[in-house]
Amino acid sequence: MIIVAEKSVNLSGLVTYVHGLGHEVDVSEGTETVVVGIKGDTRRLREDQFSLLPGVREVRRISTKYKLVSKQFHPQHIVRIGELEVNGDRPIIIAGPCAIETQEQAMRTYEEIADVSDIFRGMLWKPRTSPYDFQGLREKGIPILEEVKRRFGKPIVQEILDPRHLDVLHPITDVYQIGMRNMFNYELLREVGKAGKPVILKRNFAARLEEWLLAAEYVANEGNMDVILCERGVLTSFTGDYTRNTPDLAVIRAARKKSCLPVIFDPSHSTGDAEEVVPTSIAALSMGAQGLEIDVMPRGYDRRLLQVDGKQAITRDELDKIVKAAKTYHEK
Ligand code: PEP
Ligand code: MN
Repeated sequence: MIIVAEKSVNLSGLVTYVHGLGHEVDVSEGTETVVVGIKGDTRRLREDQFSLLPGVREVRRISTKYKLVSKQFHPQHIVRIGELEVNGDRPIIIAGPCAIETQEQAMRTYEEIADVSDIFRGMLWKPRTSPYDFQGLREKGIPILEEVKRRFGKPIVQEILDPRHLDVLHPITDVYQIGMRNMFNYELLREVGKAGKPVILKRNFAARLEEWLLAAEYVANEGNMDVILCERGVLTSFTGDYTRNTPDLAVIRAARKKSCLPVIFDPSHSTGDAEEVVPTSIAALSMGAQGLEIDVMPRGYDRRLLQVDGKQAITRDELDKIVKAAKTYHEK
């Protein structure tokens, strides 16, 4: 951290103050200003501890606040889920229904995509904008997922809305998902961090990159580095004009440059439109996405029957186009 102060600043007082906080300093006196560099781990220091002192012009943080998930300790963190590597040498496919709605819809979907999907999605708890909309099967859906696990043996991702659901979700969940609405729910991030399973952390639709990475840092700070960042579209003045959210493909590269964590993309919730899912997925792969999380429905299914996100569900046929494109993005 660097403090830029007027020449008239009480320099010895400032240096004593910084020493008192347990830090060494580097002082450099120019003709107009004095620059005090604060050394050591400055994560716990606040800018306003210095900016409010008389004579201080500016305080600048040089190193990031998210140390664990930055590239500082390791350039690339591989998240292992069984045999699967996320951030390894190929992009992964997470596919399945948005929500598990019926046994038949879930089984048909999974049967059709089992050979191409690395991880199955299909949420039991759904965070809905309206309390009158379908909230997910919740506990009632557990037996369906138990059967899915027995039949297919695939890793399953489940969204977690509340730490009180950890016990019931734990046996059927391989990867927890923190949805975009809960990215800022710090107590939930901590509890899920303690649960000891990989976490998909969706970016809140209004989160800056640093806020997203600091949310990941909350999980990592509980001793769990296995966080997968997922971009799912942001809120802009065009939201709802031609896409459900605005896919922010640029953040995929930006996040990969700043963080050692894998970055994946959700084309379904970004665009909200089945017709846009294939091209947007291919674009995201070319931007460096190391995985895609996609809503799928069975072939020939009437999308109007789906209670959640029917408009954006694709079928196996479109999924094949994405899988084919993903194969060309093997890095080794
Ligand atoms: C989801 O993936 O099921 C979901 C609700 O997504 P998001 O949190 O990104 O809206
Ligand atoms: Mn959805």
